Amino acid sequence: MPFARQPRPQTLKSLADVAPTPFWLDDASRPEPAPTLSSSTSADLVIVGAGFTGLWAALLAKEADASRDVIILEAGEAASGASGRNGGFVSASLTHGFENGLERWPNEMRALLALGHANLSAIEETATRLGIDCDLLRSGELTMATETYQLDDMRAELEIAAAYGEKLQWFAQEEARRLVNSPTYLGASFDPSVIMVNPARLAWGLRKACLEAGVRLYENSPVTALEREKNFMVARTAHGQVRTRKVALATNAFPPLLKRLSYYVVPVYDYALVTEPLTESQREAIGWKGRQGVGDAGNLFHYYRTTADGRILFGGYDAIYHWNNGFGKHLETDRESFGRLAEHFFETFPQLEGLRFTHGWGGAIDTCSRFSAFWGTAYQGRVAYALGYTGLGVGASRFGAQVMLDLLDKKENERTRLEMVRSKPIPFPPEPFRSAVVGLTQRELDKADRNEGKRSLWLRLLDAMGLGFDS
Ligand SMILES: Cc1cc2nc3c(=O)[nH]c(=O)nc-3n(C[C@H](O)[C@H](O)[C@H](O)COP(=O)(O)OP(=O)(O)OC[C@H]3O[C@@H](n4cnc5c(N)ncnc54)[C@H](O)[C@@H]3O)c2cc1C
Repeated sequence: MPFARQPRPQTLKSLADVAPTPFWLDDASRPEPAPTLSSSTSADLVIVGAGFTGLWAALLAKEADASRDVIILEAGEAASGASGRNGGFVSASLTHGFENGLERWPNEMRALLALGHANLSAIEETATRLGIDCDLLRSGELTMATETYQLDDMRAELEIAAAYGEKLQWFAQEEARRLVNSPTYLGASFDPSVIMVNPARLAWGLRKACLEAGVRLYENSPVTALEREKNFMVARTAHGQVRTRKVALATNAFPPLLKRLSYYVVPVYDYALVTEPLTESQREAIGWKGRQGVGDAGNLFHYYRTTADGRILFGGYDAIYHWNNGFGKHLETDRESFGRLAEHFFETFPQLEGLRFTHGWGGAIDTCSRFSAFWGTAYQGRVAYALGYTGLGVGASRFGAQVMLDLLDKKENERTRLEMVRSKPIPFPPEPFRSAVVGLTQRELDKADRNEGKRSLWLRLLDAMGLGFDS
C-alpha cells in the first residue's frame, strides 16, 4: 500500500507540541558564536561557509600545511545550514548511491567506490583521533522494500554491486522485521559500511579542531561580494573584508556568490521530525535493537534512525522546490509536510500510536540534475567551488572539500583526473520552465510509486537523457 497523502486528525495531535527547531542544534554543547568580521585583513585561503564542506576544507588545508593562513567566513554559525539539520547517515558513496554512479561513470566506478570508502574511513579515523563526541557508530543502513515490485530491483542491484566488491546483504521479510518491526516491510538490503552520526556534534568537533589548528573563524559574517583586485580576490562582508589569493566556496544550497551556480543547483526543502524518547515497552514493540539507519525504497522515500537518547528521527518523502530557487528561514517549517511525515511514521510503526513529536524542521538540499557533487573554478583558478551533493553530502563533503583544495592548488592527481570531477551536471532551465519541469517530475515520481513503480514516458525520457530530480 502506498503511503497516505493526508494525515488523520488523531495524527495531528502528536504534533501539538512540536518545536520548530532542528533536534541536533537544540543541544547545550552548541558552541558560543565566534566573532564577526569587523576589519580589513588578509589570508592565504578564504573559505566561505562553515558546514561540513568548509570545515573539512579548512582542516585538510591546515593538516597539509600548518603554516597556511586560513580564514572561514560563515553567514550564520557553523552547522546552521544542512550540516546541522540532516539525518546523520554517513555513506561511502560519492555518487548518491551505487546505481546512479554506475549509470553515469561506468568506467570509473571502481575508482569512485575505492575513493568513497577511503573517504569514509578517513572521517571515522579523524573523529576518533580528535576525540569528537558525536555518537559515531558504523551500524549500517537497511533499505526496506515496502512494495512487492521493489524486491526484484533491489536484489538485482545487490548482485551488480557485489561484482564491484560492495558487501551488501539481503534479508527476507521475516529477518527484516526481526531487525526492525514494521508491518510495511517485505525484505531489506543492508549496507554494513554506513556510519551513523550526530551531525551537529561532528561539525562542532571539526570547528574546534580548526580553531585549535589556528584557523580564524568569523561567524555571523555573510560574504556579500567577491571581487578581483589585480592578483588577489577580496571577500567583502557588511563590516569587513579579506584579501586573499584563493577562495573556496562551500555554500551548498544557499544563494550562490557566483551567479552561474544557480543554473546547476535548485534548493529543495526536505523535512524531518524527532519523537520523544521511547519507553522500554515501545522499544520492545519495534525491535530495532541495533542503531542501524533505515530507509524505504520508493522514489519518494523516508529515512529514519534512532538517537543516543532513544528517540526516532523520521524524515524525507516531501522534497519541495519553491519558485525561482526560493530560499529562507520561512521555508524551514512546513506544517503540511510535518503532518504527512507523522502519518507515514504511524503507518510504519502502528505500535507507536500515541507517541509524540518534540522537534520538526526543514533544510535546503542542493539538488543538481546528476544528484552528486560537482566542482569548478572561476577568476582564473583563484576561486573554486564544490556543491550539488543532493541529500548525500555528510560523507561526500570531505571528498568535495579535498577536490576543491586540489583545484585551487592546481594539482593533477587521481581525484582531479576523474571524469566526475571534470564534468558538470546539465543545468536546469530558467523560470517558468524550472518550476514546471520540477513539478511535473515530482508528480510523475509520486505516480510511479502508486503504480507498481511503472515509469511514465516523461520519467523514461529523463532517464534516457541522464537527468533527474531527487533529494
Ligand atoms: C533535512 C536534510 C536531511 C539530510 N540528510 C542527510 C543524510 O542523512 N546523509 C547525508 O549524507 N546527507 C544528508 N543531507 C545533506 C547534507 O546535510 C549536506 O549535503 C551537507 O551537510 C552539505 O554540507 P555543506 O557544508 O556543503 O553545506 P551547509 O551545511 O549547508 O553549509 C553551507 C554554509 O555556507 C554558509 N553560507 C552560505 N552563503 C554564505 C555567504 N554568502 N557567506 C558566508 N557563509 C555563507 C551557510 O550559512 C552554511 O553554514 C541532508 C540535508 C537535509 C537538508
